[in-house]
Amino acid sequence: MTSARTRERLIGRLREEGISDERVLEVMNRIPRHIFVDEALASRAYEDTALPIGFGQTISQPYIVARMTAALLRDGPLNKVLEIGTGSAYQAAILSQLATKVYSVERISALLDRARRVLRELKVHNVDLRYSDGTVGLPEEAPFDGIIATAAPHQIPQALLSQLADGGRLVIPVGPRGAQRLSLITRRDDQFEEEILEPVSFVPMLTGAN
Ligand code: SAH
Repeated sequence: MTSARTRERLIGRLREEGISDERVLEVMNRIPRHIFVDEALASRAYEDTALPIGFGQTISQPYIVARMTAALLRDGPLNKVLEIGTGSAYQAAILSQLATKVYSVERISALLDRARRVLRELKVHNVDLRYSDGTVGLPEEAPFDGIIATAAPHQIPQALLSQLADGGRLVIPVGPRGAQRLSLITRRDDQFEEEILEPVSFVPMLTGAN
C-alpha cells in the first residue's frame, strides 16, 4: 500500500493533471508521504487527496503541493525559502530537496514537535522549523527568494511582500473559505506582479501563536 509502485502511480496521476516539472515529480516520487500521516491513514497517503493531521489541520493534496512547488521554482532553483504553515512538514520536505535552505513556521507547537521528528528520521537537515506567527513572515531571516503559504489569509499580509527578494516569488492561497484563489506574486523592484493560478481550498491562516 505504501510501495514504490503506489507512489509511481500517484506521479502518473500528477502528470495527467498537468504537472510537468520533472524536478518536482522526481522529488515527490522519492520522498515518502505516508510517514507524514497517522499510521491509520498511511494506506491512503498516495491518493491525490488532502488528509487530516490532527488539530483541525490537513496535509495538502499532492497535486496542490506539486503545483505550488512548480510555481515557486518556475524561474530556476532557489536559495532561501520561507514556508508559512509547517503542518505535517511534507511540503517542507519537498522544498528541502529543491532549495538550499528552508525556513518553515507553525503556530501549533504539537505539530512542530512531530514535524521535527519526521524530518530527522528522513535525514533532512536544511529545514529550520520555528514556532511563530507567519502573518508577520520571518523578518530576522529575510529576504527570501521564495515564500509559500499553506494556509489562506483573507488578504495577502504586507510583511510577506516586503520580505521577498527582488525577483522573488510568493505562492499563496487568498480569500475566505469557499472562495479562495491560488495567487503567484513576483517582485520586480517595488512592483508586485500577480497571477491567479486556480481556485483552491485551504485551512485559514490565523493570527498569533497557539
Ligand atoms: N504545509 C503543510 C500544510 C498544513 S495545513 C503540510 O505539508 O502538511 C496549514 C498549517 O498552517 C496548519 O498546520 C496551521 O496550524 C498553520 N497555520 C495557520 N495559520 C498560521 C500562522 N499564522 N502562522 C503559522 N502557521 C499557521
